[in-house]
Amino acid sequence: MNARRVAIVTGISGQDGSYLAEELLARGYEVHGTCRGKNGVVPRTSELDRLAHLDGRITLHPIDIVDFASVRDLLKQVHPHEVYNLAAQSSVGLSWKQPIETGEVTALGVTRILEAIRSVDPSIRFYQAGSSEMFGKIEESPQDERTLFRPVSPYGAAKVYGHMITASYRESFGMFCCSGILFNHESPRRSVDFVSRKITRTVAEIRHGRATELRLGNLAAQRDWGFAGDYVKAMYLMLQQDEPRDYVVGTGVVHSVRDFVQAAFDHVGLDWRDHVVVDPAFYRPADPKLVVADPTAAREQLGWEPEVSFEELVRMMVDTDLAIVRDEIATESERALPSRRVA
Ligand code: NAP
Repeated sequence: MNARRVAIVTGISGQDGSYLAEELLARGYEVHGTCRGKNGVVPRTSELDRLAHLDGRITLHPIDIVDFASVRDLLKQVHPHEVYNLAAQSSVGLSWKQPIETGEVTALGVTRILEAIRSVDPSIRFYQAGSSEMFGKIEESPQDERTLFRPVSPYGAAKVYGHMITASYRESFGMFCCSGILFNHESPRRSVDFVSRKITRTVAEIRHGRATELRLGNLAAQRDWGFAGDYVKAMYLMLQQDEPRDYVVGTGVVHSVRDFVQAAFDHVGLDWRDHVVVDPAFYRPADPKLVVADPTAAREQLGWEPEVSFEELVRMMVDTDLAIVRDEIATESERALPSRRVA
């Protein structure tokens, strides 16, 4: 029998999946991950930007969580102790363009995994990636585990369903299921579809002379932003407790998009006012107000604290993007050189 703890991370190719895989490997776990791939072909770990450094240390499986049978078969094959469900259509903006697909994956995908666990081995511990977007139309701040959910996007609504069905399986079947209500967390591995990475990537391009402007929506929008590497530790801790429950995970500090922009431009010695253009096309149909976490339960019961500050996070992301853009420019210059003839 395998003496190592075994975990499955759905959505391992995403931002959080890559950090969680590192965290679990560091703790001695055997780590399996799901990845949809393209046209039924799963990429090799070495081909995935966020996972290439873990090549040979994790096992990828070609699973789409809209397919119940393949989720159930994976559980039978791998026999995990823990399942972390990070797979989702995770963009609020895209959820307005793809509300049905968002519901299929982000909401019903959770039920498929829970039902597969129940039928294969109900002692498997389950983590569901919930979101502060579930709070939506907020009337009280800060938000904790008792705050009312009033989602204002298809993504938020789908995550509420995922949260509720996780609680239902815990209450009805006594399964060890937890939902983390995570506030925004970023990193150099964040997709450029998200405002934080769009800012740091564009600032790097402007600094290297490849772009001149950064087009953004509502600069006054506020978020409780933390570092993804810190937040995956909370996911792990939730599944190690004696009793399952849900936790709010955030820093408890808010910053505006303008603060993020200013910190990023300051770091490269530029004035953001010279480059930022406010474009109403990037406004959200409904932008939640006063989103800020009260992470008291996570601090007191999990012993969890964020370690990376907002300023450190912005600098880390800008520095990484400066290096990426510099490498891209170097590669383009090499390609532009006339090829040398080999004698
Ligand atoms: P992400 O980078 O978008 O990763 C999500 C992953 O889900 C993708 O890599 C994708 O992998 C996978 N996926 C999408 N549809 C799938 C499907 N039908 N079947 C299987 N896999 C599918 O998101 P993240 O930032 O790491 O976030 C992780 C989770 O936390 C998500 O559920 C997100 O909604 C939630 N969350 C994130 C934040 C945040 O600030 N980052 C805050 C609160 C909650 P493939 O395309 O390779 O299959």
